[in-house]
Amino acid sequence: MIASVHDRLPESRLRQLQLWGPDASEHGWSVRQSARARRLSVRVFRNGGVEIVVPPRTPPRRVSEFVSEHRQWIERQRRRAAPALHWPLPPDSLTLTAIGEQWRCSTAARTGRVGLREIAAFELQISGALDERDRLRRLLANWLIERARLRFEQPLRALATQLGLAPTRLQVRCQRSRWGSCSRRGTISLNACLLFQSPEVLRYLMIHELSHLRHMNHSARFWAEVARHEPGWKALDRELLHGWRRVPSWIFR
Ligand SMILES: [Zn+2]
Repeated sequence: MIASVHDRLPESRLRQLQLWGPDASEHGWSVRQSARARRLSVRVFRNGGVEIVVPPRTPPRRVSEFVSEHRQWIERQRRRAAPALHWPLPPDSLTLTAIGEQWRCSTAARTGRVGLREIAAFELQISGALDERDRLRRLLANWLIERARLRFEQPLRALATQLGLAPTRLQVRCQRSRWGSCSRRGTISLNACLLFQSPEVLRYLMIHELSHLRHMNHSARFWAEVARHEPGWKALDRELLHGWRRVPSWIFR
């Protein structure tokens, strides 16, 4: 168990209750009645399983209320426990928050090598053998890199002009180690995973890397330069620290 809403949890003589249909139990939800439970509690397990423990004779309606009250907390814990549950591969959709795009992903023709193509605006089609997971991950990552290259270029140029700077080149990568970088030769590198962050965070990172064209370090003068263009940089920088949670887990596995 990794978390629970209430810390005093009854352990003995638990009885399984059937309050949801078979569908719900397949997803790892269960409700157990405990003779010793004084109130309702919920636990989230490492595999993403959820267990609601209830006192005897708790009406199902009360259980549903309890679940909806704690729904957000439960979902947060499940994401933390088992990211794969929330980031299925193939994905149903890709939400590119930074550029305000939502792409639907459909599957078709499950024979042959796995493939990926844009079939309409904001619609991707994944075809072929879906169990070729490594290849599918690579195809999706490459598509994200292309999308980011296409959509990051213009705002980066606009910001550079605003800051009176001239980067030589934009490079987009998909890497786990860093969100961006700036080379001495003026190449700005941005991580395609920034697509999953907020537009404010993306803008901050662009300002950050562009400011390195002036100061190739993280000195006080560098941060003063950043602050001139983004006074809220501290909060945005902190947001980036947890930014990996917004990135589909299949990208790096
Ligand atoms: Zn930096």
